[in-house]
Amino acid sequence: MKLSDMGEFGFINRIEPFSLIRSSGVVKGIGDDCAVMDLGGPEYLLLTTDLMVEKVHFFMEWAGPETIGEKALAVNLSDIAACGAIPLEVFVSLAVPQRVDVDWLDGLYKGMWGLAKKHDCNVLGGDTTGSASDLVINISVTGRAPKDRVLYRSAAKPGDFIISTGKLGDSAAGLDLLLRGDKEKVQLFPDLVKAHLSPRPHLEESKILSNSGLRHAAIDVSDGLSSDLGHICRSSGVGALLEESNLPLGNSLTAAALELKKDPMTWVLNGGEAYCLLATVPPEYLSTVEAMFHKEGLELFILGRAQEGADILLRGLDGQIRPISAGGWDHFNKP
Ligand code: ADP
Ligand code: MG
Repeated sequence: MKLSDMGEFGFINRIEPFSLIRSSGVVKGIGDDCAVMDLGGPEYLLLTTDLMVEKVHFFMEWAGPETIGEKALAVNLSDIAACGAIPLEVFVSLAVPQRVDVDWLDGLYKGMWGLAKKHDCNVLGGDTTGSASDLVINISVTGRAPKDRVLYRSAAKPGDFIISTGKLGDSAAGLDLLLRGDKEKVQLFPDLVKAHLSPRPHLEESKILSNSGLRHAAIDVSDGLSSDLGHICRSSGVGALLEESNLPLGNSLTAAALELKKDPMTWVLNGGEAYCLLATVPPEYLSTVEAMFHKEGLELFILGRAQEGADILLRGLDGQIRPISAGGWDHFNKP
């Protein structure tokens, strides 16, 4: 059997039952944005790791090394944000093909250090090897959080409002533009391309959600709204109803969809790498959470509600309700 027969998530489900050899101290293993460990103090230790592979996640022609380095760290910090934690230490492992020179790697580290400095993180180690063909960047980040502040995918309840801390689809549209290799079109939509190449980890937003206690579940949108909401729903045992009329569409996204003759909703529902947070908020806390976000000048969009059941539904602009399937990014089962 090939991985493409079961998909990335089928594979993860397959290995998960055999992973826990020693359960003491493990609060959460495989199945959330970070692993969560109890070392006995008042706080939990968290750890996440993410891999970026040349020609799978990025092309060296698309951006300079600083941008690539910054993104490699940003996507890990996004998983720390998804769990409501404070990032601590960074480990960087590289597999470097011969054609990549040291100046380029200096740039990669400059980009990473810039973001690490912004979030007060150390780079405490890693590994360096050669690579037969492509550049591989693996980063791991630890974090900490008081025990009752950690955000889990599994905490959504029927009736919760589903919110996102950013617009969805821009990064996917940017990727679409980059993959076409049409420089003129890329230049037409710099904000979409920037959304793809330079995502911001939503650590500020995470802090509000985590510290306030006024939320249930959270995840970061790395694979796409339909997939990542699916992760929340499956882990929490709930369904969801999204309102198409509430899904935020930026002007550039709408213009790019016209230019490329695409349905912008495909990017919004299935586009990956947005790296904003998707969270669920109990109805009684929604207005307070909204006010807290607006006070800090941060965006918050109400996309729909969690409900009993398991289906993920979308009420279209015509009022019709239809199920949506997880059409987000899967490395082995591409939409
Ligand atoms: P994210 O998109 O938040 O980085 P993933 O979808 O990559 O999360 O992973 C989901 C879960 O599966 C996480 O708990 C992750 O640590 C785990 N996981 C992914 N790949 C593997 C693997 N090869 N071996 C063990 N656990 C894995
Ligand atoms: Mg994640």
